[in-house]
Amino acid sequence: MVAAAENSTHALHRVVIVGGGAGGLELATCLGNTLGKRKRAQITLVDAARTHLWKPLLHQVAAGSMDLNDHELDYMYQARWHHFNYRLGRMAGLHRQRKEIYLAPTLDDRGREVIPARTVPYDTLVLAVGSHTNDFGTAGAAEHAISLDKTEQAALFHSRLVNACLRANAQREPLAPHQLHIAIIGAGATGVELAAELHNTTRELVSFGLDRINPEQDIRIAIVEAAPKILPALPDRLSNAVRGLLEKLHVQVFSGERVTEVTATGVRTASGREVPAELVVWAAGIKAPDFLADLDGLESNRINQLIVQDTLQTTRDPDIFAFGDCAAAPWVGQGTQASPKFIPPRAQSAHQQAMHLARMLPRRLKGQDLRPFNYRDFGSLVSLGKFSTVGSLMGGITRGSVMIEGWFAKIMYISLYKMHEHALHGFTKVFLDTLARLITRRTEPHVKLH
Ligand SMILES: Cc1cc2nc3c(=O)[nH]c(=O)nc-3n(C[C@H](O)[C@H](O)[C@H](O)COP(=O)(O)OP(=O)(O)OC[C@H]3O[C@@H](n4cnc5c(N)ncnc54)[C@H](O)[C@@H]3O)c2cc1C
Repeated sequence: MVAAAENSTHALHRVVIVGGGAGGLELATCLGNTLGKRKRAQITLVDAARTHLWKPLLHQVAAGSMDLNDHELDYMYQARWHHFNYRLGRMAGLHRQRKEIYLAPTLDDRGREVIPARTVPYDTLVLAVGSHTNDFGTAGAAEHAISLDKTEQAALFHSRLVNACLRANAQREPLAPHQLHIAIIGAGATGVELAAELHNTTRELVSFGLDRINPEQDIRIAIVEAAPKILPALPDRLSNAVRGLLEKLHVQVFSGERVTEVTATGVRTASGREVPAELVVWAAGIKAPDFLADLDGLESNRINQLIVQDTLQTTRDPDIFAFGDCAAAPWVGQGTQASPKFIPPRAQSAHQQAMHLARMLPRRLKGQDLRPFNYRDFGSLVSLGKFSTVGSLMGGITRGSVMIEGWFAKIMYISLYKMHEHALHGFTKVFLDTLARLITRRTEPHVKLH
């Protein structure tokens, strides 16, 4: 099939951003507000989805402590208010010589074509297509485990969780050994935060009339981690503190256990351990989308990330930039030439890189030099829901790493999302939205029941 070509106003420089996630949507909004509004460039955002939710909120959607509808953002609205174009479509290919990207056809739920295959021309292309969970081809993982990469998956997990509770409450015979047990594979921030949220929301859920379930006896949450400790990327004292808190919540932690198989009734590890589970979440490892591995000669690594220079330009094409989880960007000042270090795949990295490109792309249009991107690690924070927030603050504020806990850590944790909202909506809307949410939270249940 021949792909239809997009019309565009050729007089303007065309910046096409693919991926409207934590980084891409901030960049499209900032460039729309500046270059787009002043008609100095045509800014286009392409995304395979119609709505945006900041990915670090997905574990709360899965646990039921957050309603998707309160935080989801429609790309069409955002584009109109911030002077950029939005194109719905999944990028599937690239023609560097013709300077065109190829979008696969968009189909509806019955497989009927909504938008045909098409090409989108660019002068500058920015790829920010993120990453998804890497199950390393583990037997049974694709069939029996749910990953939290998309809103649909988080909503699916939540609906299965509610159904599991309703089923257990209605059944006459005793619970099977795996019933109401949840296994989370991977003890990174996502796995740990999900475990703590689930501890709370399952108890709230049961309190709404599911009186045949005894949460202390019947509900079990386990985390299975291949590395010897939980939160493997973080300092030992932080990891130990979080492990202690999880144990207080009766979350079982199996570290040093590599999962070899996921079945309909649980997970099996290399040491022969069986962890019974009705619901399994895969939250270990990341991989960039497969189409990046062979994208018209651009250089990529073994997890499909595009290799970029310190200016975030891809190594083989200066007109193509990549950032966020889908890029392997050098961490300036860290590592050695023989073993370079790369910027970690985190929301704070995507945010900083988006802000950097929002300053650099207008300079490039004026023919000025690009400055290198310097990543500033402000530390890591892990939220254990209503129980606690712990983390380490790094760098300028603290000179080294300082462990923090409690309300201060919670405010720092929330501020990362507020920074994202601020980049998308500005101060007034964020202030009013936050106020409205605080008020409605007082009159509504804290767990989503359907
Ligand atoms: C459950 C969970 C919890 C997390 N918690 C934290 C946390 O607490 N702190 C933290 O720093 N980080 C956290 N992260 C990691 C963080 O979410 C990512 O590092 C961050 O979202 C990366 O931003 P990005 O812009 O690179 O990609 P994303 O935010 O993933 O956005 C990618 C976008 O690209 C679109 N897309 C993908 N493929 C295509 C295609 N072929 N064509 C068109 N569009 C496409 C997607 O629809 C999406 O909108 C968490 C991640 C998860 C999954």
